[in-house]
Amino acid sequence: MEHQQARELLPAYVDQELGLGEAIQIERHLNDCAECQQDYAQQSQLSSQLKNPAFYFEAPADLAQRINAALLKERATPASASASSTAAAARPRRWYTNWQRNWQRNWQRNWLNVGALLTTLLAVFWSVGMYLTLPTSQDQLANEVVASHVRSLQVDHLSDVVSSDHHTVKPWFNGKLNFSPPVVELATQGYPLIGGRLDYLDGQPVAALIYHRQLHPINLYIWPTSSGDTTPMTESRRGYHLAHWTTGGMTYWVASDVAATELASFVTLLRAELNQNE
Ligand SMILES: [Zn+2]
Repeated sequence: MEHQQARELLPAYVDQELGLGEAIQIERHLNDCAECQQDYAQQSQLSSQLKNPAFYFEAPADLAQRINAALLKERATPASASASSTAAAARPRRWYTNWQRNWQRNWQRNWLNVGALLTTLLAVFWSVGMYLTLPTSQDQLANEVVASHVRSLQVDHLSDVVSSDHHTVKPWFNGKLNFSPPVVELATQGYPLIGGRLDYLDGQPVAALIYHRQLHPINLYIWPTSSGDTTPMTESRRGYHLAHWTTGGMTYWVASDVAATELASFVTLLRAELNQNE
């Protein structure tokens, strides 16, 4: 698929409105096009933010009643019933002016109540928003990691560099990323390195390393961070197990369908190996 066509279809893809054929073509294109990957990341982030229930609120129950009452009153006034052609021409405008006057009168009567209500609502939304923001970004990232893991399997595009040798995989990233990801081998411990590829997460290009556990692929994503070290956190999402932590200025995310215990032991072995290499 051409880049321009992919860009045009991307919003529909984010909203899951495309047929299977087009969706697969977009996924293929996404694998090779950093610009579209960036657009995709931004659009899916915006789309999920807009689904936040905090953005939806219902109109007050009496709003429709008040508008209807104002309209009925207007129809009943003799001025608008005038038959002269000039009056007829002026009618829409006068109707609007009268309606506006009524509205303003009601508004002025109620503005204190409405103002107080709005202030309260804003305060509530603000505090709920503040409360939701922190977990949401981590939540969003976990979704991105799962989506990337699934995509890497779907389009059979697990590795750009296929090698079990870290001396081959690590230099492959040179010039492709503005950092050098640590690459360790875990074959003797039962998790052979399969290769690496570039991916795009959290709004930036990241290194993806692929390991196997028997036939199950494990994606390990690495990118630099200014956050301090954290211990591994694990979770399950849509049938996949995830683990993430920060150490030595790098963020690590792991995604796989292996058993949770096996993923935990992979994380332990990997962290021990990374520690030795430091
Ligand atoms: Zn593109």
